[in-house]
Amino acid sequence: MMVGVQGRSDAGQKSKAEERGPLSKSADVVIVGGGIVGSSIAYHLTDQGCRNVLVLERETRQGLGSTGKSMGGVRAQFATAVNIQMSLYSIPFLARFEELTGHPSSYRPQGYLFVASSEKHLEYLRANQAKQVELGFKGCEMLGAGDVVRILPQLRADDVRGGSFCATDGFVDPYSVMNGFGARAMERGARIEKGVEVTAILRDNCGVAGVETGRGPVQTRAVVNAAGPWAAEVARMAGVQLPVEPLRRMLVPTEPFPQISHQAPMTIDMATGFHFRPEGLGLLLAWSDPDEQPGFKTSFDSSFVEKILTRAVQRVPCFENLPVNPARGWAGLYEMTPDHHAVLGPVPEVPGFFLANGFSGHGVMHSPATGRILADLILKGTSNLIDPRTLSLDRFAEGRLIEETAVL
Ligand SMILES: Cc1cc2nc3c(=O)[nH]c(=O)nc-3n(C[C@H](O)[C@H](O)[C@H](O)COP(=O)(O)OP(=O)(O)OC[C@H]3O[C@@H](n4cnc5c(N)ncnc54)[C@H](O)[C@@H]3O)c2cc1C
Repeated sequence: MMVGVQGRSDAGQKSKAEERGPLSKSADVVIVGGGIVGSSIAYHLTDQGCRNVLVLERETRQGLGSTGKSMGGVRAQFATAVNIQMSLYSIPFLARFEELTGHPSSYRPQGYLFVASSEKHLEYLRANQAKQVELGFKGCEMLGAGDVVRILPQLRADDVRGGSFCATDGFVDPYSVMNGFGARAMERGARIEKGVEVTAILRDNCGVAGVETGRGPVQTRAVVNAAGPWAAEVARMAGVQLPVEPLRRMLVPTEPFPQISHQAPMTIDMATGFHFRPEGLGLLLAWSDPDEQPGFKTSFDSSFVEKILTRAVQRVPCFENLPVNPARGWAGLYEMTPDHHAVLGPVPEVPGFFLANGFSGHGVMHSPATGRILADLILKGTSNLIDPRTLSLDRFAEGRLIEETAVL
């Protein structure tokens, strides 16, 4: 009797996997990870005419990785040519996002203001600006101390030597950008399957032959690793050692704080690395704690609030009265590489395996360029947006590291 009842109920109730229907048996390109990077790659592939694209995301929703934890900052003020080039494609793209994808990016060009209180930092900003001009970007201006304080009058100014400001830098909504890329890609034929974990990368004599998933195998000759902080794990499935480590990063939102304008830029105190930007009626505070060790730790540590507020008050005295509810703080993971640059492109030892990883804090702002470069490399074998060798995995073995020091 019991067995009979059980049997009837099983027959009437399909499992969740059955309800979703079978997974595609094959695809031209399989992308592992449906965050902002995987979504941008899917968009750019379909934009270039490759429509049989399958994005596999293990969570039941997109954006639960680093993308949903991001501060959303976008900037062209970098120290290395390749990061500047990636921003020069990405920022105008994000500014025109709605026109290009039909969906909003919530780009707010409120600028990044770097505040220098030492000659060393001022010299560093001058060198960065010269590099940007060399690459054809003239949007960043060097500022005297008076100009810095005019932009943000609440700064403690007695030690400020100057700074730099770029008006097209600013912020976007990372969720919106991810969803916009994904929706447009799907309109053009891509499929995004959620709740599907890639558990193995299949290989034959020619290279990549497919992926194994919790819902069965998918045949493909091209797999892209867009697994964010979990990138090293996915690379290992293809027998590839990838130097990408997760590093916890905490953000502190404040309660409403009308003393600072909602039009204020992202403001960076170069002396301590403390930075903040307007968010809602309050502010979003960030600081990279040098004591943080690599690992998959995503709990918010409430003792961080005091650490960050100490730095905050040093640069903006009225932050002494900042109302902060520690329960609203959150933590996510940066995906760090040894030289703080992304790892992009094919792995020659495993034909058909591509990397889009290790953004070291810049994956939201560089997602448009990354999508374009990966689509170029997968479909044409080359890209004119950057010299693809610069960010290849080989650079670590060959000692061609490119140190980016403008990491926030
Ligand atoms: C607190 C914080 C602040 C930040 N601020 C900024 C900023 O201001 N500007 C900026 O540009 N960047 C910022 N970043 C960095 C940025 O968020 C990341 O670089 C970016 O989101 C990376 O996107 P992604 O798609 O590669 O990774 P993710 O968003 O992590 O997506 C990877 C996806 O892969 C999925 N996945 C993993 N393994 C598998 C598997 N085996 N099978 C299927 N799916 C899998 C995961 O579930 C995840 O959804 C910040 C990050 C943090 C944590």
